[in-house]
Amino acid sequence: MISQERLEEIARHWAVGETLRRGYECEPRLTEFPGGWVVWSPPPAGGAVPEPGSGETVIIDRETGALTVVPGLPPQVAMSRYAGPAATAQAVYPAAPRPTPPPGAPVGTMPPPLPPLPPVLSVPADPHSLTPGPPPPNAALTSSPFGPPRLSADEAERRAMALAAQLARLNPGVPAPTLPQVVATLEVAGRTFQALGHTADAEPAHHPAVAHALAAIPPGSRTRGAHRHPDLIVVSKALFELGGAAHTDPAWAARQLAGATLRLHLLREGAPADNPTPAASCNTCGTALVSLGMPGELPRDLVRPEPPQRGAAGRAALRAITAEAVAATIAVPGVRHRLPALPFLVDLLEPYAPFHPVLQSQSGAAQRVESFTLDVWTREQTADTLGDLSERLGARLFPIGGEAGGLHSILAVDEHHRVFAVDHAGAWFLGPTLEDAVQTLLIGRSTPRLRTTGTW
Ligand SMILES: [Zn+2]
Repeated sequence: MISQERLEEIARHWAVGETLRRGYECEPRLTEFPGGWVVWSPPPAGGAVPEPGSGETVIIDRETGALTVVPGLPPQVAMSRYAGPAATAQAVYPAAPRPTPPPGAPVGTMPPPLPPLPPVLSVPADPHSLTPGPPPPNAALTSSPFGPPRLSADEAERRAMALAAQLARLNPGVPAPTLPQVVATLEVAGRTFQALGHTADAEPAHHPAVAHALAAIPPGSRTRGAHRHPDLIVVSKALFELGGAAHTDPAWAARQLAGATLRLHLLREGAPADNPTPAASCNTCGTALVSLGMPGELPRDLVRPEPPQRGAAGRAALRAITAEAVAATIAVPGVRHRLPALPFLVDLLEPYAPFHPVLQSQSGAAQRVESFTLDVWTREQTADTLGDLSERLGARLFPIGGEAGGLHSILAVDEHHRVFAVDHAGAWFLGPTLEDAVQTLLIGRSTPRLRTTGTW
């Protein structure tokens, strides 16, 4: 007999697929019978009443957990005939096509309406038992090519603890910054300095030499949040230590930094802390560091090429890919949170599916524009990263892409369709809709930063 955890996992997966398919949030309910469970979901309040006989009944087999989909039969009838998973189901449920009565057909020829389901018996009487929680130990491995790699619960826990320990070590004495993060390691004058991105609400205090280098870059050419980036924070930290704030002479700073080396690496959810991925400086940090005397070349602009035209064909296939990719992303839980199945995700992402890259790096209206990609394929874990931010924001979030250009961000949409960029300097409001957010990213409109209170 399948375990309670496995049963809940199956019901949760079913609900994700149904939410994406039906376009409203489906909360899974289970009704037990001798052969297994019927999984179903109440219709939305005020929603349309389904056509009689138009629905389908889904049965979870008690022994194997196999799903049997029975179209057009009310649950009670399907349960009474159920004899086992799909192989035998064909014989048990013969000729039960989904009826599609023609318009104006007499009511008497239509099948009887779906009877109400019996009350839930032994298995979860409380729908909250299906709310987000830690993954079951025997969770199904997804066979989808989409979605992040699935770690065992133990390994996910181990990596989360290692990352938390690293964040705490790099930021002692103050509340730990949230993921995603970038660690900057600067070796200068025989000493090693480290810093993270500055995520506190108070603005960081830079060494006068760094502040001067930043101020020399016009606002419209500055990368979002660059003054909070760890590469500049770590240089300020080193200059304060080596000479104090009294040394405002740029030539002094340049002498200190001429032989320095700087390395950046990413701290991301689900990644092994002992083998981090290298990261790059953004355009503004790169410019400021070179002007401060660090070895390196000034970064260049990249003018956006004309976007390729999207053909009208293949929409059905793109919808199917989008739905599968979204479901595969949701299927991988974090240690503390799960991603929500927002009912509008397929409609939202399909126009950009399977991915929509924009290459650019140039001055914008209020700030610099950088490359970004809207992508239905989420290759890394984000459930805890976005779950933590959701608690601050008061709205659930789902990943829809990311930004390059040294921002290393996650682009995310919330349940009110608002779009945010989440990077190592904090979270930024891009727009009330995805369309608006894309314009913000293309034009370089200003992007307010989310405060600790969840407002901006
Ligand atoms: Zn930067």
